[in-house]
Amino acid sequence: MAKTILILGGGWGGLTAAHALRGMVPNDYRIAVIEKNKSFVFYPSFLRVIIGEKPDLDTVESPMKNLLRKDIEIINEEVVRIEPETRTVYTNAQTLQADYLIIAMGSELYPGAIPGFSAAALNLFDTKDAFAIHEKLSNFKKGRIAFLIARTPFRCPPSPYEGAMLTEWFMRQSGVRQDVEISIYTPEKQPMPVAGTQVGEVFTQILAGHNINYYPEHSVTSIDGKSNKIFFSNGKEAGYDLLIGVPPHGAPKAIVDSGLTDSSGYISVHPQAMQLLEDVDELTTRYPQVYAIGDNTAVRLLNGMMLPKAGVFAEAQAHIVAGNIAAQIKGEKRTELFDGRGVCYVDVGDGMAAEGSGDFYAYPAPSIILEAPAPEVRKAKHEFERIFELWFSK
Ligand SMILES: Cc1cc2nc3c(=O)[nH]c(=O)nc-3n(C[C@H](O)[C@H](O)[C@H](O)COP(=O)(O)OP(=O)(O)OC[C@H]3O[C@@H](n4cnc5c(N)ncnc54)[C@H](O)[C@@H]3O)c2cc1C
Repeated sequence: MAKTILILGGGWGGLTAAHALRGMVPNDYRIAVIEKNKSFVFYPSFLRVIIGEKPDLDTVESPMKNLLRKDIEIINEEVVRIEPETRTVYTNAQTLQADYLIIAMGSELYPGAIPGFSAAALNLFDTKDAFAIHEKLSNFKKGRIAFLIARTPFRCPPSPYEGAMLTEWFMRQSGVRQDVEISIYTPEKQPMPVAGTQVGEVFTQILAGHNINYYPEHSVTSIDGKSNKIFFSNGKEAGYDLLIGVPPHGAPKAIVDSGLTDSSGYISVHPQAMQLLEDVDELTTRYPQVYAIGDNTAVRLLNGMMLPKAGVFAEAQAHIVAGNIAAQIKGEKRTELFDGRGVCYVDVGDGMAAEGSGDFYAYPAPSIILEAPAPEVRKAKHEFERIFELWFSK
């Protein structure tokens, strides 16, 4: 019987793992990706969609059936339960057994968790809504635009801030900036808290330089779409004419239903090996041939905070896990460890982005540097989109 490597979730992390593995393990190993959606969606492109830089859906999404490598099997089904002890996966259509299992199901959006959110806000992290935001911004001449971060953690900590700065730039280009007020409301104490106070201060200054109002420690309790008001747990309220929101995130239901989450709400994994943890303090692992990567994981850092949810980490972890599975298959000793280093490119408007990079596993706290914005950095950010050329046919 052919041996099977099952990858749950065909997003940034899952497809990276599938491609890396296909290049390393013998052809008689079946590599199958279970993905519930018909299309692969590349979330970072949403930020370009809202300012009209990406008018075509096919530069943001691609049908999974267009995957170039036909030796990676795509199973278009929904995972409903996972039994890590036996590496058994139940989907809405069948039961599958794996020799190696990689859980890469990302985080799920729960807009319904905030009363009024779905009816009142356009979701910055949704394909259809990203195009709708562009439509609204194109016709927006005067009034208040509110960016609302509902809860932490969320995908890509700088992304809502980038959305606000790109919107500000777009309003200037449209010649209406003087009549538009832009505000950001968030439960966070500062932008990107995990990156430290210095990065937070630089970021806050950039926002102030763009004349964007910033309201930290504002945790939304409900939204009234009739009176256009947002209500916060600190007793304050805010009005808006256009509301762009990031809904609460959580682990996908199948992961929760399988009992794989802990108090973090996600799957706690070993920070270097990406195996599921038995004990978070002692870092003892369980289920030797079962791994979790990317946004569905919780990695506790040495300062007690969590590793941010970012594609660059999902991708790096995918390569580590693929390398280690390949080594096991070849009977070699596991050698690769994820080192917590990463780079992110932060859009600040005016055709520029700022590079943030560093070591999230540094002691006593992550060591992150945010460079001055430059046009070349924005070009480097767009390089991510090569995924579409590398993985998919048109
Ligand atoms: C606006 C925006 C901008 C961003 N910019 C950046 C950036 O510049 N740099 C960066 O590093 N990161 C960025 N990110 C974050 C990045 O996109 C995510 O961190 C990354 O996609 C996580 O990869 P993943 O594989 O863990 O999860 P995902 O890419 O979310 O993939 C998970 C997959 O699992 C599937 N799935 C879920 N549940 C099931 C189920 N029950 N059955 C079957 N399939 C299931 C989903 O449909 C999905 O395809 C950005 C995100 C957003 C929203």
